Amino acid sequence: MGIGALGMRRAVFLDRDGVLNKAKVVGAQSYPPDNLAELEVLPGVPEACRTLKEAGYFLIVATNQPDVARGTQTRRNIEAINQALLSRLSIDDIRVCLHDDGDGCDCRKPLPGLLLAAAKDWHIALPESFMVGDRWKDIEAGRQAGCKTVLIDYGFGEEIRSRPDFITHSLTEAAHWILQATQIGTEVKMEKIAIPPILKQGEIRLDTLPSPSAVPRNPSDLSVKIFADGADKAGILEMYRDPLIKGFTTNPTLMRKAGINDYRSFAFEILQVIHDRPISFEVFADEFDEMERQAKEIAAWGNNVYVKIPVTNTRGQSSAQLLHRLASAGVKMNVTALLTLDQVWTVTQSLADGPPCCISVFAGRVADTGRDPVPMMAAAMELLRPFPHLELIWASPRELLNIYQADAIGCHIITVTNDVLKKLSLVGKHLHDYSLDTVKMFYNDAQKAGYRL
Ligand SMILES: [Mg+2]
Repeated sequence: MGIGALGMRRAVFLDRDGVLNKAKVVGAQSYPPDNLAELEVLPGVPEACRTLKEAGYFLIVATNQPDVARGTQTRRNIEAINQALLSRLSIDDIRVCLHDDGDGCDCRKPLPGLLLAAAKDWHIALPESFMVGDRWKDIEAGRQAGCKTVLIDYGFGEEIRSRPDFITHSLTEAAHWILQATQIGTEVKMEKIAIPPILKQGEIRLDTLPSPSAVPRNPSDLSVKIFADGADKAGILEMYRDPLIKGFTTNPTLMRKAGINDYRSFAFEILQVIHDRPISFEVFADEFDEMERQAKEIAAWGNNVYVKIPVTNTRGQSSAQLLHRLASAGVKMNVTALLTLDQVWTVTQSLADGPPCCISVFAGRVADTGRDPVPMMAAAMELLRPFPHLELIWASPRELLNIYQADAIGCHIITVTNDVLKKLSLVGKHLHDYSLDTVKMFYNDAQKAGYRL
Protein backbone atom coordinates (compact mmCIF):
# COMPACT_ATOMS: atom_id res chain seq x y z
CA MET A 1 0.00 0.00 0.00
CA GLY A 2 3.04 2.25 0.40
CA ILE A 3 3.53 2.59 -3.32
CA GLY A 4 0.35 3.78 -4.97
CA ALA A 5 -0.66 4.54 -8.53
CA LEU A 6 2.20 4.78 -11.06
CA GLY A 7 4.70 3.62 -8.45
CA MET A 8 4.34 6.78 -6.39
CA ARG A 9 4.53 6.88 -2.62
CA ARG A 10 1.82 7.90 -0.18
CA ALA A 11 3.06 10.26 2.50
CA VAL A 12 1.97 11.82 5.73
CA PHE A 13 3.44 15.32 6.13
CA LEU A 14 3.79 16.27 9.77
CA ASP A 15 4.22 19.66 11.35
CA ARG A 16 6.94 19.51 14.00
CA ASP A 17 6.26 21.68 17.07
CA GLY A 18 2.98 20.77 18.73
CA VAL A 19 2.56 17.64 16.62
CA LEU A 20 5.71 15.58 17.27
CA ASN A 21 7.19 17.46 20.21
CA LYS A 22 5.76 19.62 22.92
CA ALA A 23 5.51 23.31 22.04
CA LYS A 24 5.92 25.96 24.73
CA VAL A 25 2.57 27.69 25.01
CA VAL A 26 2.40 31.29 26.14
CA GLY A 27 -1.11 32.70 25.97
CA ALA A 28 -2.60 31.71 22.63
CA GLN A 29 0.88 31.41 21.07
CA SER A 30 3.07 28.33 20.93
CA TYR A 31 6.84 28.35 20.55
CA PRO A 32 9.36 25.68 19.57
CA PRO A 33 11.85 24.28 22.11
CA ASP A 34 14.93 26.52 22.30
CA ASN A 35 17.45 23.69 22.27
CA LEU A 36 17.87 19.92 22.41
CA ALA A 37 17.56 19.86 26.21
CA GLU A 38 14.05 21.28 25.91
CA LEU A 39 12.94 18.72 23.31
CA GLU A 40 10.10 16.59 24.62
CA VAL A 41 8.44 14.10 22.25
CA LEU A 42 4.68 14.02 22.90
CA PRO A 43 3.13 10.85 24.37
CA GLY A 44 2.01 8.31 21.76
CA VAL A 45 3.99 9.97 18.95
CA PRO A 46 6.64 7.22 18.45
CA GLU A 47 3.86 4.59 18.29
CA ALA A 48 1.68 6.68 15.95
CA CYS A 49 4.64 7.23 13.58
CA ARG A 50 5.39 3.53 13.64
CA THR A 51 1.74 2.67 12.88
CA LEU A 52 1.71 5.00 9.88
CA LYS A 53 5.08 3.71 8.74
CA GLU A 54 3.96 0.09 9.00
CA ALA A 55 0.85 1.00 7.01
CA GLY A 56 3.21 2.03 4.21
CA TYR A 57 3.29 5.81 4.57
CA PHE A 58 6.42 7.85 3.95
CA LEU A 59 6.71 10.34 6.83
CA ILE A 60 7.98 13.84 6.11
CA VAL A 61 8.19 16.65 8.62
CA ALA A 62 7.47 20.14 7.25
CA THR A 63 8.27 22.91 9.73
CA ASN A 64 8.48 26.71 9.76
CA GLN A 65 11.42 27.95 11.88
CA PRO A 66 11.38 31.74 11.38
CA ASP A 67 13.37 32.45 14.56
CA VAL A 68 16.55 31.98 12.53
CA ALA A 69 15.57 34.84 10.18
CA ARG A 70 14.57 36.85 13.23
CA GLY A 71 17.99 36.32 14.81
CA THR A 72 16.63 34.70 17.99
CA GLN A 73 17.63 31.14 17.16
CA THR A 74 20.56 29.36 15.52
CA ARG A 75 20.41 26.97 12.64
CA ARG A 76 22.58 24.59 14.64
CA ASN A 77 20.02 24.29 17.45
CA ILE A 78 17.25 23.57 14.97
CA GLU A 79 19.32 20.93 13.22
CA ALA A 80 20.21 19.26 16.54
CA ILE A 81 16.53 18.96 17.39
CA ASN A 82 15.72 17.64 13.92
CA GLN A 83 18.48 15.04 14.08
CA ALA A 84 17.20 13.88 17.46
CA LEU A 85 13.68 13.49 16.02
CA LEU A 86 15.02 11.60 13.00
CA SER A 87 16.82 9.16 15.29
CA ARG A 88 13.96 8.70 17.78
CA LEU A 89 10.99 8.48 15.42
CA SER A 90 10.33 6.44 12.30
CA ILE A 91 10.28 9.52 10.07
CA ASP A 92 12.01 9.70 6.70
CA ASP A 93 12.82 13.34 6.09
CA ILE A 94 12.57 16.79 7.66
CA ARG A 95 11.99 19.88 5.51
CA VAL A 96 12.57 23.27 7.13
CA CYS A 97 11.65 26.82 6.11
CA LEU A 98 14.03 29.22 7.83
CA HIS A 99 12.41 32.37 6.39
CA ASP A 100 10.09 34.97 7.89
CA ASP A 101 6.99 36.60 6.44
CA GLY A 102 8.87 39.44 4.72
CA ASP A 103 11.31 37.16 2.85
CA GLY A 104 8.93 36.38 0.00
CA CYS A 105 9.83 32.68 -0.05
CA ASP A 106 7.47 30.03 -1.39
CA CYS A 107 8.18 27.51 1.35
CA ARG A 108 6.82 29.20 4.49
CA LYS A 109 3.50 27.59 5.41
CA PRO A 110 0.66 28.39 4.62
CA LEU A 111 2.38 28.19 1.22
CA PRO A 112 2.87 24.60 0.05
CA GLY A 113 6.52 24.87 -1.13
CA LEU A 114 8.01 22.48 1.42
CA LEU A 115 5.45 19.82 0.56
CA LEU A 116 5.72 20.30 -3.20
CA ALA A 117 9.54 20.07 -3.16
CA ALA A 118 9.50 16.95 -0.98
CA ALA A 119 6.82 15.40 -3.19
CA LYS A 120 9.03 15.95 -6.24
CA ASP A 121 12.15 14.52 -4.57
CA TRP A 122 10.43 11.48 -3.09
CA HIS A 123 7.83 10.74 -5.84
CA ILE A 124 4.88 11.40 -3.55
CA ALA A 125 1.28 11.11 -4.81
CA LEU A 126 -0.10 14.24 -3.11
CA PRO A 127 -3.83 13.46 -3.54
CA GLU A 128 -3.23 10.18 -1.70
CA SER A 129 -1.24 11.91 1.06
CA PHE A 130 -2.07 13.75 4.28
CA MET A 131 -0.86 16.83 6.16
CA VAL A 132 -1.17 16.86 9.95
CA GLY A 133 -0.65 20.11 11.86
CA ASP A 134 -1.76 22.10 14.87
CA ARG A 135 -2.23 25.52 13.18
CA TRP A 136 -4.35 26.76 10.29
CA LYS A 137 -1.16 27.47 8.33
CA ASP A 138 -0.35 23.75 8.28
CA ILE A 139 -3.83 22.91 7.06
CA GLU A 140 -3.71 25.55 4.33
CA ALA A 141 -0.29 24.33 3.12
CA GLY A 142 -1.64 20.77 2.96
CA ARG A 143 -4.78 21.91 1.16
CA GLN A 144 -2.82 23.92 -1.41
CA ALA A 145 -0.55 20.92 -2.03
CA GLY A 146 -3.66 18.81 -2.74
CA CYS A 147 -3.42 16.61 0.36
CA LYS A 148 -6.11 15.63 2.82
CA THR A 149 -5.62 17.48 6.11
CA VAL A 150 -5.90 16.79 9.83
CA LEU A 151 -5.87 19.50 12.51
CA ILE A 152 -4.69 18.56 15.99
CA ASP A 153 -6.69 21.08 17.98
CA TYR A 154 -5.17 22.09 21.30
CA GLY A 155 -7.85 24.71 21.83
CA PHE A 156 -5.56 27.70 21.15
CA GLY A 157 -8.72 29.49 20.12
CA GLU A 158 -7.04 30.28 16.80
CA GLU A 159 -9.50 31.08 14.04
CA ILE A 160 -9.62 28.10 11.67
CA ARG A 161 -8.96 29.96 8.42
CA SER A 162 -8.58 26.77 6.42
CA ARG A 163 -11.03 23.94 6.98
CA PRO A 164 -9.34 20.59 7.69
CA ASP A 165 -10.81 17.25 6.61
CA PHE A 166 -10.62 16.02 10.21
CA ILE A 167 -10.10 17.63 13.62
CA THR A 168 -8.68 15.63 16.49
CA HIS A 169 -6.62 15.99 19.68
CA SER A 170 -3.51 13.87 19.22
CA LEU A 171 -1.28 12.36 16.55
CA THR A 172 -2.45 8.95 17.72
CA GLU A 173 -6.05 9.76 16.82
CA ALA A 174 -4.92 11.44 13.61
CA ALA A 175 -3.00 8.31 12.58
CA HIS A 176 -6.02 6.11 13.13
CA TRP A 177 -8.28 8.41 11.18
CA ILE A 178 -5.76 8.33 8.33
CA LEU A 179 -5.74 4.52 8.36
CA GLN A 180 -9.52 4.49 8.34
CA ALA A 181 -9.73 7.11 5.60
CA THR A 182 -7.33 5.00 3.56
CA GLN A 183 -9.59 1.97 4.05
CA ILE A 184 -12.58 3.95 2.82
CA GLY A 185 -10.51 5.02 -0.18
CA THR A 186 -9.68 1.39 -0.85
CA GLU A 187 -13.39 0.55 -0.85
CA VAL A 188 -14.12 3.24 -3.38
CA LYS A 189 -11.41 1.91 -5.65
CA MET A 190 -12.97 -1.54 -5.65
CA GLU A 191 -15.29 -0.50 -8.44
CA LYS A 192 -12.20 -0.21 -10.62
CA ILE A 193 -11.64 -3.97 -10.53
CA ALA A 194 -10.92 -4.88 -14.13
CA ILE A 195 -13.59 -6.74 -16.04
CA PRO A 196 -11.89 -9.59 -17.91
CA PRO A 197 -11.39 -8.50 -21.54
CA ILE A 198 -13.07 -11.70 -22.73
CA LEU A 199 -16.39 -10.42 -21.42
CA LYS A 200 -15.94 -7.04 -23.08
CA GLN A 201 -15.35 -8.70 -26.42
CA GLY A 202 -18.42 -10.88 -26.04
CA GLU A 203 -16.53 -14.14 -26.53
CA ILE A 204 -16.77 -16.13 -23.32
CA ARG A 205 -14.00 -18.64 -22.88
CA LEU A 206 -15.01 -20.99 -20.10
CA ASP A 207 -11.45 -22.08 -19.43
CA THR A 208 -10.57 -18.57 -18.21
CA LEU A 209 -13.50 -18.30 -15.76
CA PRO A 210 -13.27 -19.52 -12.14
CA SER A 211 -13.79 -23.25 -12.24
CA PRO A 212 -16.82 -24.60 -10.38
CA SER A 213 -14.80 -27.68 -9.58
CA ALA A 214 -12.16 -25.71 -7.64
CA VAL A 215 -12.46 -27.00 -4.08
CA PRO A 216 -11.92 -24.60 -1.17
CA ARG A 217 -9.69 -25.68 1.68
CA ASN A 218 -11.18 -27.90 4.33
CA PRO A 219 -12.32 -25.73 7.29
CA SER A 220 -10.21 -27.87 9.65
CA ASP A 221 -7.09 -26.82 7.69
CA LEU A 222 -7.70 -23.11 8.26
CA SER A 223 -5.77 -21.12 10.88
CA VAL A 224 -8.75 -19.07 12.05
CA LYS A 225 -10.34 -20.61 15.14
CA ILE A 226 -14.09 -21.17 14.87
CA PHE A 227 -16.07 -20.30 18.01
CA ALA A 228 -19.76 -21.17 18.28
CA ASP A 229 -22.11 -18.40 19.28
CA GLY A 230 -25.17 -19.72 21.07
CA ALA A 231 -27.27 -19.95 24.19
CA ASP A 232 -29.21 -23.14 23.73
CA LYS A 233 -27.72 -25.73 26.10
CA ALA A 234 -28.35 -28.79 23.90
CA GLY A 235 -26.96 -26.92 20.88
CA ILE A 236 -23.83 -25.81 22.75
CA LEU A 237 -23.14 -29.31 24.04
CA GLU A 238 -23.62 -30.77 20.58
CA MET A 239 -21.12 -28.30 19.14
CA TYR A 240 -18.72 -29.15 21.98
CA ARG A 241 -18.48 -32.65 20.52
CA ASP A 242 -17.24 -31.13 17.25
CA PRO A 243 -13.43 -30.75 17.37
CA LEU A 244 -13.69 -27.94 14.79
CA ILE A 245 -15.29 -25.71 17.43
CA LYS A 246 -12.46 -24.23 19.48
CA GLY A 247 -14.48 -22.05 21.86
CA PHE A 248 -17.86 -20.56 22.68
CA THR A 249 -19.51 -17.21 23.13
CA THR A 250 -22.93 -16.31 24.48
CA ASN A 251 -24.79 -13.05 24.73
CA PRO A 252 -27.90 -11.81 26.58
CA THR A 253 -29.88 -11.48 23.32
CA LEU A 254 -29.36 -15.13 22.39
CA MET A 255 -29.96 -16.22 26.02
CA ARG A 256 -33.27 -14.38 26.14
CA LYS A 257 -34.31 -15.95 22.84
CA ALA A 258 -33.43 -19.36 24.29
CA GLY A 259 -35.77 -18.63 27.24
CA ILE A 260 -33.05 -18.60 29.90
CA ASN A 261 -34.20 -16.95 33.15
CA ASP A 262 -31.45 -17.83 35.61
CA TYR A 263 -28.16 -16.54 34.18
CA ARG A 264 -25.90 -18.03 36.86
CA SER A 265 -27.38 -21.55 36.86
CA PHE A 266 -27.33 -21.66 33.05
CA ALA A 267 -23.62 -20.76 33.11
CA PHE A 268 -22.84 -23.36 35.78
CA GLU A 269 -24.62 -26.11 33.85
CA ILE A 270 -22.62 -25.30 30.74
CA LEU A 271 -19.33 -24.98 32.62
CA GLN A 272 -19.77 -28.42 34.19
CA VAL A 273 -19.23 -29.84 30.72
CA ILE A 274 -17.15 -27.16 28.98
CA HIS A 275 -14.07 -26.52 31.05
CA ASP A 276 -11.26 -26.93 28.56
CA ARG A 277 -12.20 -24.45 25.83
CA PRO A 278 -12.70 -20.70 26.17
CA ILE A 279 -16.26 -19.50 26.75
CA SER A 280 -17.52 -15.93 27.14
CA PHE A 281 -20.32 -14.70 29.38
CA GLU A 282 -21.42 -11.09 29.20
CA VAL A 283 -22.06 -8.58 31.98
CA PHE A 284 -25.47 -6.93 31.74
CA ALA A 285 -25.19 -3.83 33.96
CA ASP A 286 -25.02 -0.29 32.57
CA GLU A 287 -23.08 1.41 35.39
CA PHE A 288 -19.35 0.73 35.32
CA ASP A 289 -19.13 -0.06 39.08
CA GLU A 290 -21.80 -2.73 38.75
CA MET A 291 -20.23 -4.06 35.52
CA GLU A 292 -16.96 -4.42 37.44
CA ARG A 293 -18.65 -6.36 40.25
CA GLN A 294 -20.40 -8.68 37.77
CA ALA A 295 -17.18 -9.12 35.76
CA LYS A 296 -15.26 -10.24 38.84
CA GLU A 297 -17.96 -12.76 39.77
CA ILE A 298 -18.17 -14.15 36.22
CA ALA A 299 -14.36 -14.39 35.98
CA ALA A 300 -14.35 -16.54 39.13
CA TRP A 301 -16.59 -19.17 37.48
CA GLY A 302 -13.66 -20.84 35.72
CA ASN A 303 -10.20 -20.48 34.22
CA ASN A 304 -11.63 -20.85 30.73
CA VAL A 305 -14.17 -18.05 31.27
CA TYR A 306 -13.81 -14.75 29.41
CA VAL A 307 -15.96 -11.87 30.59
CA LYS A 308 -17.71 -10.05 27.79
CA ILE A 309 -17.70 -6.29 28.31
CA PRO A 310 -19.38 -3.95 25.83
CA VAL A 311 -17.12 -1.22 24.44
CA THR A 312 -19.43 1.48 25.87
CA ASN A 313 -22.48 1.59 28.13
CA THR A 314 -25.89 2.48 26.69
CA ARG A 315 -25.09 6.19 27.10
CA GLY A 316 -22.13 5.77 24.77
CA GLN A 317 -19.57 6.30 27.55
CA SER A 318 -16.33 4.43 26.87
CA SER A 319 -15.57 1.35 28.98
CA ALA A 320 -11.82 2.04 28.56
CA GLN A 321 -11.11 2.78 32.22
CA LEU A 322 -13.10 -0.23 33.40
CA LEU A 323 -11.20 -2.43 30.92
CA HIS A 324 -7.92 -1.12 32.27
CA ARG A 325 -8.94 -1.81 35.90
CA LEU A 326 -10.14 -5.33 35.10
CA ALA A 327 -7.03 -6.06 33.00
CA SER A 328 -4.86 -4.94 35.94
CA ALA A 329 -6.88 -7.30 38.17
CA GLY A 330 -6.06 -10.16 35.77
CA VAL A 331 -9.62 -10.59 34.42
CA LYS A 332 -9.67 -12.20 30.98
CA MET A 333 -12.12 -10.31 28.80
CA ASN A 334 -13.84 -10.42 25.46
CA VAL A 335 -14.55 -6.79 24.65
CA THR A 336 -17.60 -6.69 22.44
CA ALA A 337 -19.73 -4.60 20.08
CA LEU A 338 -16.82 -2.73 18.42
CA LEU A 339 -17.51 -1.32 14.95
CA THR A 340 -14.71 1.19 14.35
CA LEU A 341 -10.92 1.17 14.26
CA ASP A 342 -10.84 4.01 16.79
CA GLN A 343 -12.58 1.70 19.23
CA VAL A 344 -10.12 -1.10 18.45
CA TRP A 345 -7.20 1.19 19.11
CA THR A 346 -8.63 2.48 22.42
CA VAL A 347 -9.36 -1.05 23.62
CA THR A 348 -5.86 -2.31 22.75
CA GLN A 349 -4.40 0.49 24.87
CA SER A 350 -6.67 -0.39 27.81
CA LEU A 351 -5.75 -4.09 27.63
CA ALA A 352 -2.06 -3.58 26.83
CA ASP A 353 -0.69 -4.82 30.15
CA GLY A 354 -3.33 -7.39 31.06
CA PRO A 355 -3.96 -11.13 30.64
CA PRO A 356 -5.04 -12.78 27.36
CA CYS A 357 -8.13 -11.02 25.99
CA CYS A 358 -10.27 -10.96 22.84
CA ILE A 359 -11.61 -7.99 20.90
CA SER A 360 -14.86 -8.62 18.99
CA VAL A 361 -15.33 -6.45 15.93
CA PHE A 362 -18.79 -6.86 14.40
CA ALA A 363 -17.75 -7.33 10.79
CA GLY A 364 -21.22 -8.52 9.80
CA ARG A 365 -22.82 -5.37 11.15
CA VAL A 366 -20.24 -3.33 9.21
CA ALA A 367 -21.29 -5.26 6.10
CA ASP A 368 -24.96 -4.55 6.91
CA THR A 369 -24.21 -0.85 6.36
CA GLY A 370 -22.94 -1.48 2.82
CA ARG A 371 -19.26 -1.32 3.75
CA ASP A 372 -16.76 -4.06 2.97
CA PRO A 373 -15.51 -5.28 6.37
CA VAL A 374 -12.42 -7.06 5.02
CA PRO A 375 -10.05 -4.04 4.74
CA MET A 376 -11.19 -2.79 8.13
CA MET A 377 -10.65 -6.17 9.79
CA ALA A 378 -7.19 -6.36 8.18
CA ALA A 379 -6.39 -2.92 9.64
CA ALA A 380 -7.68 -4.08 13.05
CA MET A 381 -5.22 -6.99 12.85
CA GLU A 382 -2.45 -4.45 12.31
CA LEU A 383 -3.55 -2.55 15.42
CA LEU A 384 -3.38 -5.77 17.46
CA ARG A 385 0.01 -6.81 16.11
CA PRO A 386 2.06 -5.18 18.93
CA PHE A 387 0.01 -7.13 21.50
CA PRO A 388 0.49 -10.91 21.14
CA HIS A 389 -1.81 -11.57 24.11
CA LEU A 390 -4.79 -9.98 22.31
CA GLU A 391 -6.88 -11.87 19.73
CA LEU A 392 -9.24 -10.40 17.16
CA ILE A 393 -12.70 -11.92 16.82
CA TRP A 394 -14.61 -11.56 13.54
CA ALA A 395 -18.07 -11.26 15.08
CA SER A 396 -21.55 -11.39 13.54
CA PRO A 397 -20.57 -13.20 10.32
CA ARG A 398 -23.31 -13.24 7.73
CA GLU A 399 -22.23 -16.14 5.52
CA LEU A 400 -19.91 -19.11 5.39
CA LEU A 401 -17.50 -17.25 3.10
CA ASN A 402 -16.66 -14.98 6.07
CA ILE A 403 -14.75 -17.89 7.65
CA TYR A 404 -12.41 -17.95 4.63
CA GLN A 405 -12.16 -14.14 4.54
CA ALA A 406 -11.24 -14.07 8.24
CA ASP A 407 -8.62 -16.77 7.65
CA ALA A 408 -7.15 -14.90 4.67
CA ILE A 409 -6.38 -11.80 6.74
CA GLY A 410 -4.93 -13.82 9.63
CA CYS A 411 -7.85 -13.04 11.99
CA HIS A 412 -7.50 -15.18 15.12
CA ILE A 413 -11.11 -16.17 15.77
CA ILE A 414 -14.52 -16.08 14.08
CA THR A 415 -17.72 -16.56 16.05
CA VAL A 416 -20.25 -18.48 14.04
CA THR A 417 -23.96 -18.97 14.72
CA ASN A 418 -25.76 -22.23 14.13
CA ASP A 419 -27.27 -21.23 10.80
CA VAL A 420 -23.81 -20.51 9.34
CA LEU A 421 -22.29 -23.62 10.98
CA LYS A 422 -24.89 -25.79 9.28
CA LYS A 423 -23.50 -24.65 5.93
CA LEU A 424 -20.09 -26.16 6.69
CA SER A 425 -21.39 -29.37 5.12
CA LEU A 426 -21.67 -27.45 1.82
CA VAL A 427 -17.97 -26.57 1.65
CA GLY A 428 -16.62 -27.77 -1.68
CA LYS A 429 -20.00 -28.99 -2.95
CA HIS A 430 -19.96 -29.12 -6.73
CA LEU A 431 -21.81 -26.09 -8.08
CA HIS A 432 -23.57 -28.09 -10.81
CA ASP A 433 -24.99 -30.40 -8.14
CA TYR A 434 -26.00 -27.40 -6.04
CA SER A 435 -27.72 -25.87 -9.07
CA LEU A 436 -29.69 -29.11 -9.59
CA ASP A 437 -30.67 -29.16 -5.88
CA THR A 438 -31.96 -25.61 -6.26
CA VAL A 439 -34.08 -26.47 -9.31
CA LYS A 440 -35.49 -29.49 -7.45
CA MET A 441 -36.29 -27.35 -4.43
CA PHE A 442 -38.36 -24.91 -6.53
CA TYR A 443 -40.14 -27.79 -8.31
CA ASN A 444 -40.93 -29.72 -5.12
CA ASP A 445 -42.19 -26.66 -3.26
CA ALA A 446 -44.50 -25.75 -6.15
CA GLN A 447 -45.78 -29.35 -6.21
CA LYS A 448 -46.39 -29.39 -2.45
CA ALA A 449 -48.26 -26.12 -2.69
CA GLY A 450 -50.43 -27.64 -5.43
CA TYR A 451 -50.07 -24.57 -7.68
CA ARG A 452 -51.95 -24.67 -10.99
CA LEU A 453 -52.04 -22.26 -13.87
MG1 LIG B 1 2.99 23.55 15.13
